Formats: sequence, C-alpha cells, structure tokens
Amino acid sequence: MMERNLVSLTRQAYDVLVIGGGIYGAFVAWEASLRGLSVALVEKGDFGSATSANSLKTIHGGFRYLQNADFKRMRESIHERRTLMQIAPHLIHPLPVIVPTYGHGMKGKAALAVALALNDAISFDRNRLADPQKHIPQGHVVSRERCQQLLPGVRSEGLTGGAIFYDAQVYNSERLILALLRSASQAGARLANYVRVTDLLYQGSRIIGVRAEDQSDGQQFDLRARTVINTSGPWLAQVTGLLKQSTFPGPPLLSQAMNLVTTRPLFENYAVGLPSSGAAGSRFLFVAPWRGRSIIGTWYGVHPGNPDQFALSEAQIQEFLAQINQSYPGAHLTRDQVAWVHGGLLPCDGVEHQTEEPKLTKHYQIYDHARDGHPGMMSVVGVKYTTARDVAQKLVDRVCRSWGQKAPASISAQTPVYGGQIADFNEFLQGAIATECLSPEVTQRLVYNYGSAYPQVLSYLNGAAKETESQTDSPPDSLAIIQAEVSYAVKEEMAQTLSDVIFGELN
Ligand SMILES: Cc1cc2nc3c(=O)[nH]c(=O)nc-3n(C[C@H](O)[C@H](O)[C@H](O)COP(=O)(O)OP(=O)(O)OC[C@H]3O[C@@H](n4cnc5c(N)ncnc54)[C@H](O)[C@@H]3O)c2cc1C
Repeated sequence: MMERNLVSLTRQAYDVLVIGGGIYGAFVAWEASLRGLSVALVEKGDFGSATSANSLKTIHGGFRYLQNADFKRMRESIHERRTLMQIAPHLIHPLPVIVPTYGHGMKGKAALAVALALNDAISFDRNRLADPQKHIPQGHVVSRERCQQLLPGVRSEGLTGGAIFYDAQVYNSERLILALLRSASQAGARLANYVRVTDLLYQGSRIIGVRAEDQSDGQQFDLRARTVINTSGPWLAQVTGLLKQSTFPGPPLLSQAMNLVTTRPLFENYAVGLPSSGAAGSRFLFVAPWRGRSIIGTWYGVHPGNPDQFALSEAQIQEFLAQINQSYPGAHLTRDQVAWVHGGLLPCDGVEHQTEEPKLTKHYQIYDHARDGHPGMMSVVGVKYTTARDVAQKLVDRVCRSWGQKAPASISAQTPVYGGQIADFNEFLQGAIATECLSPEVTQRLVYNYGSAYPQVLSYLNGAAKETESQTDSPPDSLAIIQAEVSYAVKEEMAQTLSDVIFGELN
C-alpha cells in the first residue's frame, strides 16, 4: 500500500530525493530502491498526470531512427521495448504497424523492404522472452490490393503496397507509473503526491535537500538527501532556476504536442503510419488502435511560455483534425467524434526556419550540477516514455559514482513491476476469464490494468455487490467494479481527487 504520510516522510534523510512523479521520476525511484538506496519522491500533482499521461502510448522499437542510421538509439529502443514487455507484461503489448508505400523513392516499396530487413537484423535479439504473446514477427511487404483491404479509404493514387512491422503499445501509461511507484514503495521508498518543491537547501554550495509545500494546506517542510534528482519534465527549468547559479542550458524551448482519441476506430487491428502533408511537413501521422478506439498523433507547435500556462486551443484542435482528414480522406473525422484530447509539453531545441515547426530534442541528457559548483543535484532531460528505465539505470550509476562508490548491479530489467508476475500473458488472461464471475470484457480490462494484482481490486467490491452476486449468480455490474477501483485507488494508491482516478482510466 502506498501511504501519503508527510510526518514519516520528513523523519529521515535520504540517499536520493526525486522531484517529479512522471515516468522518469517513477523509474528513478524504482531503480534506486532496487539498488538498496533510501529514496523519497515528491510530485506536485497526481502521479503520472502530466506529460506521461499524454503520450501516444507507443513503445518504440526504433524503426524510424533507421532513416538517420541512428543505430545506437535503435538498439536502446529495441532493448527497452523487450524489457518493458518482460517487466510489465500486462501493460505492454506488441503492436502491428502498416505503412502504405507510394512511388519508387525512399517511401517506395523496395526501399521499405530493405529497411524492414535491416530492422529485423538490428533487432535480432528482440524475441529473447519466454512469453509467446510478446513475440515480434519479422517485417514484410504486402501488395497494393492487400494494403487497400487492410486500410480501406487510404489514398490510392501512386499506392504500391504496404510495409508491415511491429512496435509495442502501453495499454495505460499512468498505471505503469503507479506500478513502478508501488514497487518502489514496497522496497522502502517514501512517496507523496500533491507536494511541490519550492526551494533548494544548501550547505555551502552543496545541495543537501529541498523545501517542499503540501499543496493541500500550504504547510512547508524540508527534506534532506545526499543527492536531489530533478525529473520535473517540462518544469525542469523552473527547478534549475532555484539554483543560485547554473550554466546548464537545458532545452531552450518547449514544444506543445497533441494526440486525439476518437469515438470510433479509424482502422482495425493495425496501427497505421500515414505521410502527413499538412503543417506537420514530412512527419508521419500515426493512427493506432487503442481500447476499441483510435489514438492519433502527433501534432506539434512551439509553446511560448510558462509550462503552468499550457492549454491547447480549439483552433489547434481544428487544425489537427484538418491535417488528419487531409492525410486520410477516408477518415471523415468530425469534432464530435473526438472523445479525448491529450496534450503535453516536450523539450525542444529550436524552430525549423522554413516550416516554423519545433525541432524536438532527440537525445536524453543527465546533467550533474556539480559542473556549476553545486554538487548534490542532477537534472534529467527525458525525451521518450519508452527509454525512461534505461536513463534511470544510467542516472543511478552516475549518482553512486558521484559519491565515490561502486554502484550495485542494476536488476530493473529483469524484475517484474507490481502486478507483473505473469509468465504467459494469454494463459493468465484466459485463466482469469474462466475463474472470475465477471463478464469477459470486465475481467480483460482488470487484467490489462492491474495484471497479477487485479484480485486486490476485486477485494474492494462492496458487500452489497458481493451479496447480489452470491444470491443471483449474476456478475457484479460495471458500476460496482468501478466503485471497487475507486476504493482501491484511494486506499492503496494515494488518489486524492476523483479526477486522479478518472484520468487514470483515460490514460
Ligand atoms: C502528445 C505526446 C505524445 C507522446 N508520445 C510518445 C510515445 O508514443 N512514445 C514515447 O516513448 N514517448 C512519447 N512522448 C514523450 C513522453 O511522454 C515523455 O518523454 C515522458 O512522458 C516525459 O516524462 P517525464 O517524467 O520527464 O515528465 P512528466 O510526465 O511531465 O513528469 C514530470 C513531473 O514533475 C512534476 N513536477 C514538476 N515540478 C515539480 C515540483 N516543483 N515539485 C514536485 N513535482 C514537480 C510534474 O507535476 C510532473 O508530474 C509523447 C509526449 C507527448 C506530449
């Protein structure tokens, strides 16, 4: 159980204090706890509710990094995709992707067939996993006719066929963060949401902790640590701005990014990469199946100011809708078919002169503020949800080195997260459907969200629902299950508001 106890939080000094409970902070907390370090993490809002809740849910296998021959980044992504499927088998699943091919150039069928072969060769070890459900088949090309069958309504002028390869998808990006935090908490980490870091504590020029504020009553308190880790995502510059001096340039700008979730699926079974001809220039639009709907991304624009003032406008949503309909005329997507808009901020290195598009930061960065004369604090610029574990592993190595210590070996790539104790996903799912007195859809949703921990959610079914079930032999209704999920979130996962629970469902 994750308990929000600010009295016990302040009772000790920690090895590592993490600012921010997005995917980067959560992985750092888990990684450091697994290595036997004492850890605290504070988050100013709800865990995982900022950028990490708004991702397109793709766990990249790095296929598109091929066009820049960025093999290092590809290998990192391939490794992390496999690792995430292994440690969170309920949340991360293979995702077949089809890209229609046009003409005879770099987007043509022959060029993509070569790219698929290279991708298979570079990801030679992608299937070193026991669970057959996580198996990633080889890529292949299909004919023009087959492509049209799979993607009715796709632009047919110049169409030569399609390239099929695999990525992976996270079913619920917030639940992975909660699973990591729960794991860290079990390993001894102390966590608190709705606690904002407002200042840094110094001993000479060394950072020795933070001043924090409880967002519920404005109470201030101090937390001490050997090293403070700044994983505050878009607020990175605000936190480094608390330093007396810093030469850390950080990303100079932030980019706004948006995905739309539709009320109906645009395509079945496959995610589709569509060339985009709108203001997004040469980017691909990605339309992925997600929980019976489509999630479509990603629109980008430069964010002019403060991350606290970020909001997408109706005009921007309309602009993205127009781009989607232009790239895929068969979509006929209207505003009332948009069920949900995901928006977040990403690090950005500047603006393209010709298109005025933001140039997204490509590589993560770990910055030790000892370089500015302030030992005791490191900042992380994360660029992908996919690679957060790898960055956390490298960061904890670096923290231990900064103390002059040899880091204990990392085991986060082999250790299942909370709820991830599943050897064979399909077998586990079918077993749950056969055993539980619930509709298969409800059981499936519980298994995908909570994995092997789903019975704990059911233990919150209230007495009335259990009684109805035993008297009538009919399964508890969906409302009773949602009530159980709310009680579970409040009692075991520190949910403080109804939106903490509801947003978790939408992410
Ligand atoms: C639209 C969109 C689509 C994307 N699609 C993908 C994708 O498909 N695949 C992929 O791999 N990546 C994707 N990304 C990128 C990915 O989502 C981000 O790289 C990742 O989520 C960043 O995580 P983070 O932990 O750094 O930031 P965040 O999730 O923003 O976490 C930072 C946290 O720090 C907290 N914080 C800030 N200041 C303080 C303070 N003073 N005190 C306490 N807490 C504080 C914030 O409240 C926040 O919760 C996408 C991003 C966007 C926006």
